[in-house]
Parts: sequence; structure tokens; C-alpha cells
Amino acid sequence: MKHASDYLYIEPILDCNLRCRYCYLNNDQRGELTEDDVRQFIRRVQTVADISTFSWIGHGEICLWKPWTTLVNELTATHIVQTNGIGLVERLLEVDWLDKMRVRLSVDGLKKHHETNRGAGTFAVMERTLRWLSEMRVKTLVRSLLTPKSVGEAGLFRDWVKGIDASFDVRFTIPFTKKQVDKYRGYGCEFVGPDFGTYDEKAFEKACETAEGLNDDDDTPDTYLALTVNGVYSCCEAQHKIGKIDDDPRLLVERSRECGGCLFLKENECRLE
Ligand code: SF4
Repeated sequence: MKHASDYLYIEPILDCNLRCRYCYLNNDQRGELTEDDVRQFIRRVQTVADISTFSWIGHGEICLWKPWTTLVNELTATHIVQTNGIGLVERLLEVDWLDKMRVRLSVDGLKKHHETNRGAGTFAVMERTLRWLSEMRVKTLVRSLLTPKSVGEAGLFRDWVKGIDASFDVRFTIPFTKKQVDKYRGYGCEFVGPDFGTYDEKAFEKACETAEGLNDDDDTPDTYLALTVNGVYSCCEAQHKIGKIDDDPRLLVERSRECGGCLFLKENECRLE
């Protein structure tokens, strides 16, 4: 179990600008924290922890949260952003120093597969975004969902990304299916997994095994302090709640070491059974 006390995950908005077919979230939820809520929280945490990395994400899409770049410009640190890429270039143009940004972009394979999931016209936006990130020399990791239909093109997809910029990293993930999610419903998770229809699970698993970069460690710790619209957690949004935004930061930092036995880690035999 890897804990990071210098890493702060911030998910200040419940909203998205896409409606992906395989989205694992409840897209009816809406809400956001204010700029001041987040700024004050960061200041309180900084009195008890030395934060070197801020990880920005939306329960949906971070680019929709207006104060985001103001706070990035205020904070001297590394800033990771996990994004679907829609509106990203416009938001990064507001950032003073792009060399402190680390972009993690979700792309679901080549055009046909990406647009089957994310909608018509989204691939061209993604390609323009990747070319801009390359031109601006922004450190970029492309995360790609493998599905029974796209897995056969994983190698071609990697070549396409590397053709844009050989320094871009490409990692593959397997999504949570409805079957897996049903198994975990009892833990209070709100995920809605993708429905791929009928497919050969064994053949899919076998095909995934050959995808270079599958589930590679991307340096994300297992437990860390995470502020979300719904409270404070000890890792990402659907997991182990450890308090409220205005709780004593020292207690929150201490509790952030706790693993709540989340949906993701259960698969890997987390210590809490
Ligand atoms: S970008 Fe992410 S959060 Fe938004 S609809 Fe797609 S999968 Fe869901």
C-alpha cells in the first residue's frame, strides 16, 4: 500500500461536458465547490503537510470548473490534470507556466472506438489537443479504455499516439463492467459500469494481456488526501470518506493513511475484507 502525504487530490465539480456510453458515473448529479472553499482548504492543509503535487479531476470534467486555473497559477507545485480533453487547450492557455502541468488524457482508441463511446466529432478535438500539447511540450500521458471491440487495435492506437509525439506515454485500462459493479454494490459505491452486450470474456481477457502498458503503475499513490464536492476521502471519489471540508486538517491528514477497502483495491485483495 503506497501512501503519499505530499499529494492532494481535488475534485471540485460534479458535472461533465460529455455523455460517454461507458461512463461509470451517475451523470444526473450536479454541484461544485467555490473557489474560496478550495483555496481555504488548501491553505489549512498546507499548515500541516508539504504538498508537492496537486491532482485535479472532475467527477465529470475539471475544465468546467472556472476557478481551476486561477488556483493552479497561485500554487507552486506540480499539477496533474485528468481530463477528457474537451476545452483543455482553452483552459491551459490561462496557465502561466505550462511546465508545471502533467496532462492525463482519456482517449478510447482510434476514431471509430473513441467516438462510439464519446460521441461524434470528439476524436478530431482530441487529435488537435494532442498536437497542441506536443507543440507546447507538455508532459502527457494518454489513458485508453480497452473494450472487447477496441482491444484488437491497441497496438495501432499506441503507434498513432507515438506518431504524434514519441515522448507521450500510453497506458491501457480495463473498465469496470456491470458484473463487477454488481459484486460491489453492497459497499455503497455509485458506479454504473458499461454494458458491452454479449462478448467472450475469456477471449477479451486474453487479448488484454498482450496490450503493452496495461495497468502499468503511473505513480498514483493508493491512499492520499482527497477533497471532493461530497466531503474528504482517503483516495478517489467513490471510496472511503474520512471527514468534511472544514474538519481539523491534522486529523484529515492522519486519516488519509487509512484504506477503506475500495472498489478498485478489493480486486487486488485490499487488507480490509
Ligand atoms: S468524460 Fe468521463 S465523466 Fe464525462 S461522460 Fe465521459 S466517462 Fe463520464
